[in-house]
Amino acid sequence: MDEADVVVVGAGAAGLSLADRLAAPGYAGGAPSVVLLDAPAGPLRPPRRTWCFWENGAGRHDAALAASWHSLRVHGRDGRGTRQDIAPLRYKMIRFDTFESLVDERLAEAPHITRRRATVERVTPAGRGSHVHLRDDDGRARVLHARYVFDSRPPRVLPPARTCLLQHFRGWFVRTRRPVFDPRTADLMDFRTPQPPGGLAFFYVLPTSTTTALVEYTQFSAAVLPAEAYDRMLRGHLADVLGAGAHEVTDTESGVIPMTDGRFARRSAPGVFPIGVAGGAVRPSTGYAFSAIQRQAAAISEALRAGRDPLPPAPHSRRSRAMDAVLLRGLASGRVDGAAFFGQLFGHVPMERLLHFLDGRTTPAQDFAIGLRTPILPMVRSALATATHPRRPVTPPARPS
Ligand SMILES: Cc1cc2nc3c(=O)[nH]c(=O)nc-3n(C[C@H](O)[C@H](O)[C@H](O)COP(=O)(O)OP(=O)(O)OC[C@H]3O[C@@H](n4cnc5c(N)ncnc54)[C@H](O)[C@@H]3O)c2cc1C
Repeated sequence: MDEADVVVVGAGAAGLSLADRLAAPGYAGGAPSVVLLDAPAGPLRPPRRTWCFWENGAGRHDAALAASWHSLRVHGRDGRGTRQDIAPLRYKMIRFDTFESLVDERLAEAPHITRRRATVERVTPAGRGSHVHLRDDDGRARVLHARYVFDSRPPRVLPPARTCLLQHFRGWFVRTRRPVFDPRTADLMDFRTPQPPGGLAFFYVLPTSTTTALVEYTQFSAAVLPAEAYDRMLRGHLADVLGAGAHEVTDTESGVIPMTDGRFARRSAPGVFPIGVAGGAVRPSTGYAFSAIQRQAAAISEALRAGRDPLPPAPHSRRSRAMDAVLLRGLASGRVDGAAFFGQLFGHVPMERLLHFLDGRTTPAQDFAIGLRTPILPMVRSALATATHPRRPVTPPARPS
């Protein structure tokens, strides 16, 4: 049987980010042996993704960025645009392939880390650690013993929740014939589109040049749409709102992210820790997870270096989760008009402050001030409804058709 100190299951955002941190030198008692396992090409492997996140100035993964912006804009339903400079923050876009290549380069310098293609079938307790039962590329069943397992396989069941909305979206990477986009500004939310009941809908435009951009249609609502509905919305936005004219679609991406107030376990068994989406990294009110995944990876790596129990910290503070639960309930119940809510927030609170808020980096007083910029009565009613609403089982969503 093979042995490793650490097994990381899955090489998506969370697995790669953790392996990357663990590859760096600086272990007091010698570097641990680490095996990074990822499913072979097939149904378990998610389509290649594009991740956006923000951070202060230069960052660890800058060499892999596809683009970044200092200026963000939000369009209300009335078409009014609010553009704000977010310096010293930068809104960054990274694509899976370049991120993976960057991490692979770093892993090549770290002989204590091995990357292996295998499907993990289950993880069971075994002495001071776990057995990771896997099926290798050649179809042979094997067992790997590990002291610690960090598991990013998507959860089969979601934790019981009071509210679970879906963030479902489809994006087109477009190339226009004539210059249409302003590559200095990313459109974070554009509400010039019909709003669904019990949720919200918006477009997202991330220009990488004057003629290329990722244009995405997103809904927060109870159920995904048929694929042609997203395409219809995208076609309409490009033609009627952006006036894009002739264009080609060079690539697409789609996804569905549960936005839930369920509580994710940070330890699923002794020495076994869910990470990434499985570990609750998705911020319930926004669907962003990449930054929380980076914080999680850094904390685990620090704990292992210090010889401490590497229990990942909660990805989002209790206060953030409580506020998000109220917003989710407000949206799902229809008490809160989502487009008006976000339009008002972005119109009255400096964007940089809001981004810090979404990262959980604001003080209670700042959070209170932000709360005053939300529709107070519907939010108070939603808070009361949240307190009395029972947590119920949730079925994980299917990918959009
Ligand atoms: C299309 C899309 C776009 C997103 N964009 C953003 C964004 O812009 N910003 C942001 O902050 N968040 C974004 N998110 C949310 C979140 O950041 C991503 O879902 C992110 O990929 C989550 O990382 P993860 O490692 O938890 O899961 P994944 O990236 O899904 O990785 C899971 C890994 O587990 C592996 N795996 C699965 N089953 C097995 C098995 N049995 N054995 C071995 N390996 C297995 C898979 O191959 C995969 O590599 C997006 C989500 C989606 C779906």
